[in-house]
Amino acid sequence: MRYLSTRGDPTPRRFCEILLEGLAPDGGLFLPERYPRVDATRLEQWRKLGYAELAYEILSLYIDDIPLPDLRRLCDETYTAGRFGSRAIVPLRALEQGLWVEALSNGPTLAFKDMAMQLLGALFEYELGRRGERLNILGATSGDTGSAAEYAMRGKAGVQVFMLSPHGRMSPFQQAQMYSLQDANIHNIAIEGVFDDCQDIVKAVSGDLAFKRRHRIGSVNSINWARLLAQVVYYFSGWLQATTSSEERISFAVPSGNFGNVCAGHIARMMGLPIDRLIVATNENDVLDEFFRTGRYRVRGAAETHETSSPSMDISKASNFERFVFDLLGRDAARTRELFDTQIARDGGFSVDATALVRCREFGFVSGRSTHADRLATIRDTQERFGTLVDPHTADGLKVARDLRRPGERVIVLETALPVKFADTIVEAIGRAPDRPEVLKGIEQLPRRCQVLPPDVERVKAFISARDVL
Ligand SMILES: *Cc1c(COP(=O)(O)O)cnc(C)c1O
Repeated sequence: MRYLSTRGDPTPRRFCEILLEGLAPDGGLFLPERYPRVDATRLEQWRKLGYAELAYEILSLYIDDIPLPDLRRLCDETYTAGRFGSRAIVPLRALEQGLWVEALSNGPTLAFKDMAMQLLGALFEYELGRRGERLNILGATSGDTGSAAEYAMRGKAGVQVFMLSPHGRMSPFQQAQMYSLQDANIHNIAIEGVFDDCQDIVKAVSGDLAFKRRHRIGSVNSINWARLLAQVVYYFSGWLQATTSSEERISFAVPSGNFGNVCAGHIARMMGLPIDRLIVATNENDVLDEFFRTGRYRVRGAAETHETSSPSMDISKASNFERFVFDLLGRDAARTRELFDTQIARDGGFSVDATALVRCREFGFVSGRSTHADRLATIRDTQERFGTLVDPHTADGLKVARDLRRPGERVIVLETALPVKFADTIVEAIGRAPDRPEVLKGIEQLPRRCQVLPPDVERVKAFISARDVL
C-alpha cells in the first residue's frame, strides 16, 4: 500500500514514512492510494475475532512495512481488557428499539481519543526504536487530546511529550488527569493565557525549522493517518456486534468536530462495510452541518467560535475534512488544492455545486445540530427512560440521531466521552454529579507535575532545550 497527498504531491510513501508526520509536504493530508475491499465472506469470518485480532486484520490491509508478527503483537498489547475496561473493548448498549450506544470511552482518559492514541504510542515506540531515533512531541490542548497523548506516550522509550495548556482554564478533573502524571518523559506546561496563546506558541516553535530539526519536534494531531486508521476498527466492531448477517445495514451517528471520527466511518464504508448513513452531529459550532445542508464550507473566526458545553467539538474549521472532499471530487488533487489552499485563503471558504451535494448523500452523509438546551434535555431524558447517563458530546450525537432517524433505520451512536469528565453539565441536566470510577476518586488531591510559564515563545523553547536529554 502506498500513500498519496490530497494536494497531489507525487511521491508515493509507505505507512511508516508517514506514521510520524502531520501534513504532507505540499500542505495536503495523506490518504491510501485506494481503499482495500472487504467482502461479505471476509466480514463473516471476522465475526469470531476479538477486538485486537480485528484491529490486526484491518491494519494489515494498510501496513506492509511492519513485519506481521510485530503488528500482531502491537495490537494485542494495546487492546486489552485491562486497558479498556472490558473484553469487548467497545461494547454496545441498547437504548430504544434499533438504537445503540457504542462505548468508545473506557480507555485511560475516558474519551474515545484513547482508541487511536494508545495504538499510536505503541507504533511510535516501535518505529523510533527500529530507526534508533527519538522524538519530542509538542502540542497544545484544551482538554481531551492532550491527556490522551500523554497517557499514550507515558513511559515510552524514545518519546517525550511537551504539552501546553491554558493555565487554570481546563476543568479541575482534566487538569488533575494531566498534571498528576509523574512520568519523566511527560512535561506539562501551563501557559498564562488562553488556548489560542498555546496554539500560537506551538506554531511559532514548529515554524523555527532549525530548532525543530535540532530537537526533533513532532506532533500527534488529529490529521495523523495512523490515528484515523485505528478508528476504522470500531466501526467494523460496532457493525459486527449489531448484526447477524452481511445483508444488514447500520447507520452511525457521530459527535463531530475535526471530522476525524466520522472520516474513519467514511473509510470503513468505502472498504465495503454495510453502513447505511453517516450522521454527522455538531454542536453550536456547526461548520459541518452547514456544509452538508447547503454545500457551503465556511471557516469561522475566533469571534464566531462558541465555547459550548460539548467543548471538544468547539472548532472553527474541520481539519480532516479535506480528506472527504478529495474523495467527493473524485480524487481530483488540483481541485482540492484550489479549494483548500486558494479559496479558503482568499474567501474564507468555498461552495460545492448541487451535484456534489447529491454525491454527499450517496456517500451516506447527512447532518444535524444540537444546542446546549438539546444536550441537557437528551441527558435528562436518556437517564429517565433508560437509566443510562451519557456525556454532553454523546448527547449531541443521540439528539441528532433521534431527529434524523428514518422508520426502521438502525443507528449506532458513538460514545465519545464519559459523563464524569463533564460533571458540571451533568449536574445542570439531572441535578446530581455522575458517579466516579473507584480509581479516579480523589485525583484532584494527587501531587502535580506542571510548569507554569508566561506566553513567551523563547521561554518555552528554553524549557524544551533544557529537557531534550534522550
Ligand atoms: C475529539 C472529540 C470529538 C470530536 O471528534 P472529531 O474526530 O474531532 O470529529 C467529540 N467528542 C469528544 C469527547 C472528543 O474528545
